[in-house]
Amino acid sequence: MSPLADRYGRRFPYLRLSIIPACNFRCTYCLPHGYHADANAAAPLSLDEITRLLRGFTELGMHKLRITGGEPSVRRDLTDILRTAAAVPGVTKLAMTTNGTLLSRHLHEWMDAGLNAINVSVDTLDRACFAHITGHDRLDDILHGVNMALDAGLASVKLNAVLLRDVNDKELPSWLDYLRDKRVGVRFIELMQTGDNVAFFRDHHVRAEVLEEQLLTRGWQLLPRAADAGPAREYRHPDYAGRIGIIAPYSKDFCAGCNRLRVTATGDLRLCLFGEFGIPLRPLLQSDDQRDDLVRAIGGQIGRKEQGHFLHEGRTGITPHLASTGG
Ligand code: SAM
Ligand code: SF4
Repeated sequence: MSPLADRYGRRFPYLRLSIIPACNFRCTYCLPHGYHADANAAAPLSLDEITRLLRGFTELGMHKLRITGGEPSVRRDLTDILRTAAAVPGVTKLAMTTNGTLLSRHLHEWMDAGLNAINVSVDTLDRACFAHITGHDRLDDILHGVNMALDAGLASVKLNAVLLRDVNDKELPSWLDYLRDKRVGVRFIELMQTGDNVAFFRDHHVRAEVLEEQLLTRGWQLLPRAADAGPAREYRHPDYAGRIGIIAPYSKDFCAGCNRLRVTATGDLRLCLFGEFGIPLRPLLQSDDQRDDLVRAIGGQIGRKEQGHFLHEGRTGITPHLASTGG
């Protein structure tokens, strides 16, 4: 089977799989009131269903997998999921996005299971500001986990920071101090509007270009875009061990670099984070014999992927918050 490609020539070697919609944090831009379970909601995919899903995707050329959520570490069988995912033939890079609350406790277990890349959400290096954004005074422990990951030689360690006007958008100097000697990548992410955060977005959205101008003034250089790179713009500086990536979903051509598909915790394929529909794959994950049907179903949906999102027009699709889809 040839690799997945859409009608705009984009390929999709990268799958982001949410394994649980629940989260233990209440980030102001995502779940400001915490996670509330819907009593009628289906359970997240089981380990067997996940395994079948991944085998179908690797047959279509997927080789990079990111486990996300909600907060993936809320799931008790996370280590089993990682071990199983790493063993699926064709998965060459196994990454996870986490808020880091269990990182220091489980890092070695996760690495032994096959995890080789991690993104930890750290929106600020200021302890009080971190507690304000997430609802939890856990910054020191999370940064300790990040140091452990670096010391343990995890292949890729990145921090995700969502830029928020009048909250954390004046912190470039402290980030630069942090990055001088740390082999870590920080990705500054422009706040995205979702169904639930419209007023918050209006008050706190700030264009990432403002930060990029400051980087260029300070001698940071934009790296040429690699052919298989995602939508991030990467910067480096000869005096710094760390790197900076900018994710600016409102910038021109952002979607041209799209290389990923998403599957929600209950098995809906999402062609775009901000799309208008999900395609239920769960019925095709009930037995190993369904593999051909699954592969055909996924391959057949790619033609429906739009060229770009409609965020500029305020259309956020069916995503109430990123915890629901897997950010
Ligand atoms: N709970 C994990 C975490 O926070 O890393 C994984 C899921 S979270 C939805 C994935 C990423 O999406 C995080 O880095 C988070 O900061 C980011 N995110 C959530 N809501 C966002 C929004 N409205 N705009 C931009 N990024 C957002
Ligand atoms: Fe939870 Fe991640 Fe959303 Fe924060 S961004 S509330 S940690 S899912």
